[in-house]
Amino acid sequence: MGKKHTCTDPRHHVHDAKAFVRAVEHACRERGLRLTPTRALVLDLIARAGAPIKAYDLLDRMRGKDDEGSAAPPTVYRALDFLLANGFIHKLESINAFVACHHPSSDQHSVPFLICNRCHTAIELEDASIVGKLDDAARALGFAPQAQTLEVHGLCARCVAKSR
Ligand SMILES: [Zn+2]
Ligand SMILES: [Zn+2]
Repeated sequence: MGKKHTCTDPRHHVHDAKAFVRAVEHACRERGLRLTPTRALVLDLIARAGAPIKAYDLLDRMRGKDDEGSAAPPTVYRALDFLLANGFIHKLESINAFVACHHPSSDQHSVPFLICNRCHTAIELEDASIVGKLDDAARALGFAPQAQTLEVHGLCARCVAKSR
């Protein structure tokens, strides 16, 4: 595993929420994107959640954090769209929730996720070969893939250890 270990640590985001938002600010500057206060706030809340967070929980947490009405659902959904489109967060379709991306400096990408059914942590499986194989298999059938949703449900290592 070596270097990959810190990236697949499910607690990674909680400890690094501030650094994560800074990394995204940096990426936005480099790519000429604008990280508005609302976008930054949504990003910060997602990073702080430490586990996948649903849109209505985000809306809940936005309330009281701002006084200019940026907690209005359309504003929050637009912020989520921006963060998704630029690869700063991922949407987990099977549980309809959002997580911060471990490598915000790279563009939007498909990655498999391992989702724990007990503690609800989501681990980004950084293995480009899996995505590449699926892509190749699809193209071999003449299919032009545009997006992949690969979500594996089960128990994370910590929950497996606890249940022993
Ligand atoms: Zn990612
Ligand atoms: Zn777990």
